[in-house]
Amino acid sequence: MSSVNVVSKSRQSILAGLENIKLYIDGAFVDAESNDQFDNIDPFTNEQINTVASGGKEDINKAAMAAKKAFKGEWGNLPLQDRLSYMYKIADAIDKHVDELAPLESYDTGLPISITKKMVSRASKNFRFYAEMVSSRMVGEAYQVDDQFLNYTIHKPVGVAGLITPWNAPFMLETWKIAPALATGNTVILKPAEWSPLTANRLAEIIDGVGLPNGVFNVVHGYGEKAGASLVAHEDVELISFTGETTTGSEIMRNGADALKRFSMELGGKSPIIVFDDADLERALDACTWGIFSFNGERCTANSRLYIHENVAEQFIQALKERVRNIRVGDPLSDDTQVGPLIHTKHYENVNTYIKLAKQEGCEVYQGNVPDEYRKGNYIPPTILLNANHSMRVVQEEIFGPVLAVMTFKDEEEVIELANDVRYGLAGYVWTKDIQRGHRVSQAVDAGMLWINSQNVRDLRTPFGGSKHSGIGREGGYYAFEFYTEMQVVHVALGDHHIPQFGKK
Ligand code: NAD
Repeated sequence: MSSVNVVSKSRQSILAGLENIKLYIDGAFVDAESNDQFDNIDPFTNEQINTVASGGKEDINKAAMAAKKAFKGEWGNLPLQDRLSYMYKIADAIDKHVDELAPLESYDTGLPISITKKMVSRASKNFRFYAEMVSSRMVGEAYQVDDQFLNYTIHKPVGVAGLITPWNAPFMLETWKIAPALATGNTVILKPAEWSPLTANRLAEIIDGVGLPNGVFNVVHGYGEKAGASLVAHEDVELISFTGETTTGSEIMRNGADALKRFSMELGGKSPIIVFDDADLERALDACTWGIFSFNGERCTANSRLYIHENVAEQFIQALKERVRNIRVGDPLSDDTQVGPLIHTKHYENVNTYIKLAKQEGCEVYQGNVPDEYRKGNYIPPTILLNANHSMRVVQEEIFGPVLAVMTFKDEEEVIELANDVRYGLAGYVWTKDIQRGHRVSQAVDAGMLWINSQNVRDLRTPFGGSKHSGIGREGGYYAFEFYTEMQVVHVALGDHHIPQFGKK
């Protein structure tokens, strides 16, 4: 019996209770006002997983009303420590459900289970991290201004937060926004991506289960141009935290401009990995293959452009081809799978179009294998584009799949120029044993995040985000705390200082 049958049997049990996903508004699971639904599709089989309530303007209105009421009422009046105790309760409840959440996420997205297990575990850390930070940060700094005045700052929640998220790593990315938003005292309306709705509803159940007051957390599923756009336009939604494509980010900023929304934008990337001839080539190869082919290549920080020094290019590319041939492409629910199917047929077609374009543009396309038994799914074999150059669209544009453009370089100056010759600026990776060069090149690359001799290792305290067309603002650490709070300064007179006496006789 093939492994496909074994897994598809267990797929039904993964879904239990989520056959018809509803919206979660004001503490209740409800249908969309229009009763509209859309189908959610399994990327592994292209069969229907379940149906999802498709929200629109009326549903966003309902959610905004509930969220505003909670903000002005029960949630807003809750003592800080009580609010934070909910964060710990949510974290504990997520931990209890990890074994169930990871398969659900893999089923929905096609991400290998080895990845979703790690991502889901990070979700509870997000809640604990922000609960801890908020416990000491709501009061900011104090300034003693001579002996007459004391000024101090406080951080206040902003209000109703609109969170719009993508389908790659949905659970982790959602909780990365929800945790700081709630911990700082806002109320939330989450609009998850339409291609990955499952874990958002499990999260709603988890949050419902810990007894968070009604209206504090709401989930409105639906299409971006309906549910998403209504959220952005709603006058009671004070801020929008968005992660997704750069073009969507621009549209959202245009739509929210009249209402002067506060925006955080985490957008696309086309990140370089630069490997010098003195690098530990074996480790650089590990990092390069993992960095582009993990997450099925559907990762914003993927190193999708390789610059390999010409002295070592031949041997490196040979070794890279061998790795590509041996990557284990398979069922996302199998523990040993390294690359699974892409999220949706539309995205699959998009990535395939780029691979065809690469050939037309003059690249030699080298690909790994997809076993025949997986042909029903949205599988793109791990792909490298040899002889790429900067006049090509496949080098300039984000493909967001398991596709690596390979280029060589002569020296430091040239590679910095090439690394910066794209409109994106999210991440970059530099491999060299020369520590001075490592720092020099990293600092010269236009990107929000650089790693030297390392793959994408993260710490929750550090800022995450990009420059140029990769984003505005930063998430993570104190940076998210600042985004979700309004700072106020209070000026206190310590004595009877002189006040000009206008009009006094
Ligand atoms: P997308 O822009 O298509 O969609 C993201 C979300 O925006 C979805 O929930 C969608 O429904 C919603 N949306 C679409 N149109 C909208 C509109 N007009 N108004 C309001 N909401 C709207 O992105 P995607 O395809 O889901 O995700 C992939 C993209 O996300 C890639 O470009 C990737 O690089 C980026 N990404 C960036 C980061 C980062 O931190 N920088 C992290 C993950 C993903």
